[in-house]
This record gives sequence, structure tokens and C-alpha cells, in this order.
Amino acid sequence: MKLKKRTKIIATVGPACENPEIMESLIKAGVNIFRFNMKHGEVEWHKKFITQAREISDKIGIPIGVLIDLQGPEIRIKTYNQKILDINKGDKIKMTLNFDSLNDNENIIYSPQTGVIASLEVSDRIVIDDGALFLTVVEKNSDHVILESSSKSPLKNNKSLNVIDKDIDLPSLTEEDKKRLTVAEEVKVDFIALSFVREKNDILFLKSEMKSRNIEAKIVSKIENKKGIKNIDEIIDESYAIMVARGDLGIETPIEGVTFIQKELIKRCRAKSKPVIVATQMLESMITSKFPTRAEAADVANAVFDYTDCVMLSGETAYGANPVEVVEIMSKICSYNESVIPDSTFEYSQMDNTKYITSAATSIAKAHNINKIIALTETGYTVRVLSALRPRADIIAVTDFQTTVSLLNMSGGVHAIKTKYEIGRAHV
Ligand code: PGA
Repeated sequence: MKLKKRTKIIATVGPACENPEIMESLIKAGVNIFRFNMKHGEVEWHKKFITQAREISDKIGIPIGVLIDLQGPEIRIKTYNQKILDINKGDKIKMTLNFDSLNDNENIIYSPQTGVIASLEVSDRIVIDDGALFLTVVEKNSDHVILESSSKSPLKNNKSLNVIDKDIDLPSLTEEDKKRLTVAEEVKVDFIALSFVREKNDILFLKSEMKSRNIEAKIVSKIENKKGIKNIDEIIDESYAIMVARGDLGIETPIEGVTFIQKELIKRCRAKSKPVIVATQMLESMITSKFPTRAEAADVANAVFDYTDCVMLSGETAYGANPVEVVEIMSKICSYNESVIPDSTFEYSQMDNTKYITSAATSIAKAHNINKIIALTETGYTVRVLSALRPRADIIAVTDFQTTVSLLNMSGGVHAIKTKYEIGRAHV
């Protein structure tokens, strides 16, 4: 039996797929990891559906991983009573520090992070909701700024705000993130994704918060701005995995360079045997439509050709009209392109024992047309080193640790099996 697909799929959970039957169909259609976005929903909601996802996975005997995604130093705005403001070109919007001054009579939004308004200056350029609205600061006061819009769009509550070409000094974990970490204290999660990672200290800070709460999950650093790209090597070294968070990257860096950044980050992650995820707008049109655009199908195929470990779905499964169809189509695009992709030519430049052994196994499998490589593993390290080489043979990871089985849901080309026998530890 051949693996149905080798590229792993991460699906964001939301109202469109919280129903147990839909979750089960998603796993059967090819979801390997469920993502819980901590920007939305209450702690109790996340705990309930993480537990449900694990129960379904146990019932049908298909392993899944669970990832929670923390907001980190991302700026989100609030509107009065979650009202949708109708913004036209030339309209002025007041952005205030004072939540109580929100009202129904003017275009007013609230920015919870105090550092934002303090750092803004007249002429600074702002983007809201991943490019729905472009604005310029036209007036600055101690507790508010006035923004002028150069586009027309509805402005919804809790949307993201980016300040172009300006470093806003915000803590790497918000107070809300710290509250949200209780989810990981109370139910087991495998991965914690941190948004807007700028340097290794952001990860070290999250690690210390996790340690003080006895949380053992692995950290996925989301690369979304210029600083994260500049410090990419130290960030990869300190992280378990990297997410190419193309939504914010496409605002914080020029849009024409995002694909090149994706390819570079995948290469660097492979060189360090770290899993990598390509995220955002992969099959976006399927939020409302039954079929993807040709460009979206090409985008998923392109990520497979880059040898990404995972492709990710956000709104498509969280609130889209066709969550199961999206995963079915994504699985098909992955598995077809995996079958036609040329053999990987990637080789490690710096060798250690594990890299020698896995490189040898890959060459032998290729030379003799062997279609399975079985790797015994405790922590999953050997398997991650092998996975980055992406042999055409399927990698069957055998481990006696359930945690390792869950973690390997993030590694391309790998099928992990838990054995009841103690393996990997020599008894001499
Ligand atoms: P988000 O991250 O879904 O938290 O915005 C992904 C991205 O920015 O691409």
C-alpha cells in the first residue's frame, strides 16, 4: 500500500467544521493537523473541540496533531458593539486608545495595544484586513489618531492592522495570549504557533512561559514580516517548525516577493531538517465556491514542488461553505503532483551520523526501487532528517511514543505507527 498523499494538510477549525461528522470526514479526506486559531472563540470552545477532534481520531484510528495559534504581537482593531463600518474613499476614521469612547455616531475604532498610537506619525501608511483598506495617518493626538482612507470597503470588528515600513515595539506575547495558553495547560496540544516572530528572543520568552506552566508542545514560528526574515536562521534554530504566513507577509513585504520568500524559507528549513508550512489563501475562493480557481490549484501544486511539509487551510475550513470538498480537492492536488514531481536532489551539506544513515537509506531505496523505508524513532529526529531528503519511498516511522506519532503529522512523506514494544533504546 502506498501513502495516499505525502504533503500534510492543516485545517483551521471553526463553525463550518465543528460538527463531529464533518470533522470525521475532514480527517478521512486528508487532514493531518487541526489548527485552533486563538484570535477567535472562547477558551472553553477551543477545549471542547480539541477534545472532540482527539476522540474522533481515536475512534477511526487515524492519528491527528493539534496546533493552537497564538496572536502574538499582531495588531487587531475593535469596533463599537462589533459594528461593521461602511468606509468610502476619503472617509476619516478615528483610532482611539480609549475603549469607552467607542460610539455609534462616528467612524471610530479601538486599538488595544497602547504602543501603536504612540508610535504613529502623520503620513504613516496603514493597511487593515489584509489589504481591504489602505489608510494614511493625517492627525496625531496623545490618545487618538485620525486616519484617511484611500479605498472603499466594509470595516469589520477584530480585523488585523499593519503599519507599513515601521517597527512597532510590542511584547511578543499579549496578555490575551497568556490567558489562551491555559488551553494548552488543560488539554494536550502538540504545537503552539506564535505570530509575528521577529527574533529568537520571542521564542525563548514563549518557551519560558510554557515551562512555568508545564506545557510541552513544540513551537511553530510564523514568519510574517521583514524582521522575521532578517533573523530567519536564529528563528529556525530555536523553533520546531516554521510557517510561511503569506497573509501578513504580503502586506509587510512587497507582494511580488512572497513566492520567492516561500521558496527560500522551505529550502532553509529542509537544510536544518525542520518542518515547514505554507499558509493562507491556498483555496480561498472555495470559501464560497465548489471548485478552486486554476491559480489556486497551481499554488498548492507549486508548494508541493517546493517540497513543503504542510499546506494550510484557514477560512476555507473554518467558516467556508464547502470544508470537506476543499480538503478532498487539496488532497488530490497534492497527491497528483507528488506523483509527477522529479526526484528530490537535495543533499545535506553538513553531515552527522543520522544524516549519513538517512542519506544512505535514501540512495539505496532509489537505486533498488524500494518503496518503503522503515525508521525506528524515539523523538522523531531521525524521521525528520529523512523526511527533509524526501525520498520517493514512503517513510514508515515506528515509535513507542504517542507524542512522536502526533508530532510526525507535520512531516512530509511520513506515516507514523505506534508500537507497544520498547524500541530505539539499547539495553546493554
Ligand atoms: P493568521 O496568520 O491567520 O494568523 O493571520 C497567517 C497569515 O498571516 O498568513
